[in-house]
Amino acid sequence: MTDRDDIDAKKMRSNLKERRDQLLERANSNKDSRDTVELDQARLGRLSRIDAMQGQAMAQETERRRKVELQRIEAALERLDTDEFGYCLTCGDEIALKRLELDPAVTLCIACANKAAD
Ligand SMILES: [Zn+2]
Repeated sequence: MTDRDDIDAKKMRSNLKERRDQLLERANSNKDSRDTVELDQARLGRLSRIDAMQGQAMAQETERRRKVELQRIEAALERLDTDEFGYCLTCGDEIALKRLELDPAVTLCIACANKAAD
């Protein structure tokens, strides 16, 4: 459990789990549309096939991002069990509560996040 007394660990945990459930739900509906593309391809002409392939590439990119986001959330849930939650992974400073409330999976303080974005 985090040793910061301004953080409501229970609230953070339920927020993270809610995000995780939403991502998993979306994954299931994405999977359906990917399967449909594969089934239809045999009947399609060349141009439609290119369309279908682009659609598939986009679906794969969405899927990749979803996995990265899921990993962030799982990692945040694990940190919630330790006293590391709420502290910047780079400099060890406290991450602003507002920042955590916006995205509990965030791992860097604002200063380090800005440096990383440069
Ligand atoms: Zn930092």
